Parts: sequence; C-alpha cells; structure tokens
Amino acid sequence: MTVLPGDGIGPEVVEATLSTLDALDAPLSFDVLDHVNASAYRRSGHALTDGDLARITSGSAVLLGAFGDPALEDTDYVRSVLLRLRLEFDLYANYRPARLWQDRLSPLRDPSKRAVDCVIVRENTEGLYSGVGGALRAATPWETAVDADISTYHGVSRIIDFAFSVAAEKVCMVDKANAVRSGGSLWQRCWREAAERHPDKRASHLYVDTAAMKLVTDPTEFEVVVTNNSYGDILSDLTAALAGGLGLAASASLNPETGFGLYEPVHGTAPDIAGKGIANPLATVLTAALLYERLELTAEADALRRAVTAAIAKGRVTPDLGGDLSTREAAAAVRAEL
Ligand code: ATP
Ligand code: MG
Repeated sequence: MTVLPGDGIGPEVVEATLSTLDALDAPLSFDVLDHVNASAYRRSGHALTDGDLARITSGSAVLLGAFGDPALEDTDYVRSVLLRLRLEFDLYANYRPARLWQDRLSPLRDPSKRAVDCVIVRENTEGLYSGVGGALRAATPWETAVDADISTYHGVSRIIDFAFSVAAEKVCMVDKANAVRSGGSLWQRCWREAAERHPDKRASHLYVDTAAMKLVTDPTEFEVVVTNNSYGDILSDLTAALAGGLGLAASASLNPETGFGLYEPVHGTAPDIAGKGIANPLATVLTAALLYERLELTAEADALRRAVTAAIAKGRVTPDLGGDLSTREAAAAVRAEL
C-alpha cells in the first residue's frame, strides 16, 4: 500500500495512524512517499512524478493525509496531485460514512434522533467540478462566469449502481430535478433504471433542500444517500458534523470495478492547527479501517473501530473532541485499546 502524507496536518495524522496500525500485525506493507508535497511543487513545479505514479500503481491502495498550501492556492498544485490520481485510477465513487461513535458528540438535542449511521455516496468525476466553463466578457461590467454542471448517462448510472451495491436495505437519491432540469431528468431516469436492477433494495428520492433538512431533523431515517459531486460535498460535511465533526470523518474514493481506492480523511490540511501537534488522528485511523474492510481484513477493521470507540468513551482524545491529548497521545490511546 502507498502512503501519501501530504501537507499541513496530513503528515502528523498519517504518522500517528501508522504507529497505531503497527499494533495490528496485518499483512500489509507501507510504501511512504513523503517527498510528494508542497515544497516539492515549489522547487520543481511537479509534486507527483511519473515514477511516483508507477509506485502507486504497483500498490493495492493509497492512504492519503491531505494536500494543500495556502500560498499555492492560485496554482494547480492540489489538482495536479488529487485530480491526477482521481483520473488515472478513475476513482468515481466517493464513499463517506457517518456514524456516531459516542452519544455526547452529537449536536442534536433529541437523543432518539442521534444515532446517525449512514453513507453519502458522492459522484467524484462530473458535476459542477468538471472544470468546463469560463468567464465571458471578462473584466467588463457584463462579466459572466459559467461553470457547467456535467452529468453523463454512464457516470450517473454507475454511481447509482454502486450506491445500490453497498446498501443493505435502502438508497435515497438526492437531486434538484425540480429546478435543474436537464441533469435532473437524467439522474431521475438513471435512478429508476437502477432501482429496477436492484428490486431487493428500497429506492427513494428527495430534493437536496429537503434532504438537508431531514438529515438534521432525523438522520436515523437514512442508510445510503447517492448524489452528485457538489451536493455530496455539502451533505457529507453536514453528516460529518452530525457524527462528531471533521476530526472523525473518514472517506474513500473508489473504482469499484478495479477495486483500487484512495483513502483519505474528509478534512483538509487545517493550516490553523498544522505543526501544533493537536490534530485529531481518528479520522485517519477510521479511514484505515475503511481500507482494511475493503481489503477484506474485517477483523482488523472491527478491532480499529472498537479501539477508537473505547478511546473516545474514556475521553482519551484531542481538543476538538473535548480532550487534552496530542495527536501522538491520541493515537497511542487507540493503540493501547488494541
Ligand atoms: P483545506 O483547504 O486543506 O481543506 P481548510 O482550511 O479547509 O484546509 P480543513 O482541514 O478542512 O481546513 O479544516 C476545517 C476546520 O476544521 C479547521 O478549523 C481545522 O482546524 C478543523 N479540523 C480539520 N481537521 C481536523 C483534525 N483532524 N483535528 C482537529 N481539527 C480539525
Ligand atoms: Mg477544507
């Protein structure tokens, strides 16, 4: 497996996570590419070389910390790493589970509505983030910015099929077909066709505004939610907050056909706390649990989740979850539970 620690808190949470994973004795080796980062990009204009890509291709998966640098925001740095990996491996399915690990971490008042345990399946290659568009009549008072919202039959069908394939009982498709007409009707048609291919699962539909409201009023109603790139981005931050925040949110970008995946916490480089040694490593530990599950190391995945739950229950956590441990200490607390 290849490890890309990246920038900001990425290397801190990845190092801590690897030290926790060491305790598992799983049949996995780690090829750590810690030279792929913002300073490499500043030096050479390239962060990820063809040689790096070859090493990544020879592995079974990628575990990634975070990429980004406030000083490089106007460059193509992040896209040159993340987009390149996404396109190279066609990682079209972004899988973002949200599960409440401890009751007191819920922001909801009503205890009976707190037990969120759902997955946002976000289309990862199309939508508003396709990069199609531009500025018309730039730098005039009539300047008009256009960002096309791309949906293809192929792209929408495969993401909805993936959502059905990971659901035990039910899939809720989320769009805004009442206002965004062309894409909406394509999503609706693909969803009806996919539902017919999966008659054993319950298929439902919500407009994205209603979905946002219902996720807050009663998240326990949801199992798998499938939606486009931008709605998935937003709804998965919402469900992460329902499940205790970014410090616990895991994610995987998958190609279900090849089985290749890029596993990364939902959070970014967190420049405000980078270098302070207080970043929460649990999102990355839980991301590693997703990876183990996908590699059919189920016992290891369960052990990691049980250990995280136990450490949280004892308050052996970083400041974002109300504890006073450092990144390393929080990872050591999980390791101790293993
Ligand atoms: P990026 O542009 O790389 O996404 P960002 O500025 O959006 O960076 P995020 O990493 O998304 O920052 O974090 C958003 C907020 O959540 C920040 O205030 C950050 O400190 C906090 N945060 C994110 N991840 C963690 C973590 N693992 N532990 C503690 N706090 C975190
Ligand atoms: Mg961010």
